[in-house]
Amino acid sequence: MKACLLAIGDEIISGITTDTNSGFLAQLLREVGVEVTGVLTVPDDEAAIATALRRATKDAELVISTGGLGPTADDLTTTCVAAFAGLPLDLHEPSLAQIAARFRDRGLEMPPNNRKQALLPRGCTLIPNPEGTAPGFICEVASTPARFTASLPGVPREMKRMAEETLLPWIARRSGAGVIRSTVFSTVGLSESKLDQLLVGAVQPDEARLSFRAAFPRLQTRVTVSGDSADEVEERLRRLEGTIRARLGDHLYATGDVGLEETVGELLRANRLTLSVAESCTGGLIGHRITDVAGSSEYFLNGVVAYSNEAKQRLLGVSSATIEEHGAVSEQTVLEMARGVRKIQGSSLGLSTSGIAGPGGGTPEKPVGTLCVGIAWEGGEWSRRFDLGKGSRTWIKQMSAQVALDALRRRVLALTDATTK
Ligand code: ATP
Repeated sequence: MKACLLAIGDEIISGITTDTNSGFLAQLLREVGVEVTGVLTVPDDEAAIATALRRATKDAELVISTGGLGPTADDLTTTCVAAFAGLPLDLHEPSLAQIAARFRDRGLEMPPNNRKQALLPRGCTLIPNPEGTAPGFICEVASTPARFTASLPGVPREMKRMAEETLLPWIARRSGAGVIRSTVFSTVGLSESKLDQLLVGAVQPDEARLSFRAAFPRLQTRVTVSGDSADEVEERLRRLEGTIRARLGDHLYATGDVGLEETVGELLRANRLTLSVAESCTGGLIGHRITDVAGSSEYFLNGVVAYSNEAKQRLLGVSSATIEEHGAVSEQTVLEMARGVRKIQGSSLGLSTSGIAGPGGGTPEKPVGTLCVGIAWEGGEWSRRFDLGKGSRTWIKQMSAQVALDALRRRVLALTDATTK
């Protein structure tokens, strides 16, 4: 099967939003052997969308569009696809009920314009949206040979689940690829090339496909297995999962497209531990990532951004002698920061960072990219200095947050493992 991707939206064509959806879909399709003939980007404009649909279906059997399924007047995908396929729009009552229920669940009344999202081309195959309001749909275009359009929402989180859970199995059935299953492995502490090296020979080309995805700070590999029987595919996938797990060791923090903050949160929650963070060079980034996870109030107590030396002393009780003797970026300072922040609310764990994000401020002893991480808990503490190497200020800040979260993950695992023993 050949597919063409269509990214719809003024914000894409104007460069305000980078088209990450097409990259994700292209990779997903490659894994199941679908050739991508091209990627088109069009504004929220009926004529432009119609032209793109005509062009895309010239040499591809399937056009997958993202965006333009919202409730507002500039969301034109459904109307354009229906016109192109020669199908009228019908109100799909179950979708309308689902959209209304989503609003009701949040204590809101559904605005009248959301009804538009339940108007779907007649006879289409629904792509349920478990994460949002707009359902997606697959339409057959009246043409010889057969052509199909699949329309997905623009919001990446919604689009990804819908593509993986409904569109991909549909493609597998349609293209005769049979049953397709895949598992994503989320890793930390590796570069792309190191990840590649670790997995050399783990998967034979005739048993599965292995692909890599780097969306900094996430680095993932996906194994995709296909075959005729679901049982056989599942069995092969389980076996390969075991091999890949063993190769990745403690660099593997989760299966699935999961952020490190979610894994850390789950570990804290499951072990009934609470956390406070004291951040210098990460400037609140760790607190931001931790609180991005729904339910983080169960384990996250407080965060202090102590950027100046004075703040480290006044807010966290770091001694001036420590800063004078060892410097603000030192294992001694981060340990006192971690101890100090833990004391504020008596949390189980205190995590701290101090580093040099650059571009200025580096010295031969402590160059740009130096990071110190401290962790304190009841009856113990841990610290380490890392050399993250060269990078932009933003990269170093993000990498520092990732390294600190990973240090915390490893510490919680070690502590809870010790408790279990
Ligand atoms: P909504 O119901 O939110 O209106 P929609 O299906 O109409 O969803 P758009 O309005 O086109 O989608 O886009 C919603 C958001 O999704 C955009 O603001 C943008 O942040 C993101 N988005 C849209 N298209 C893409 C894309 N190709 N790549 C990455 N992000 C995208």
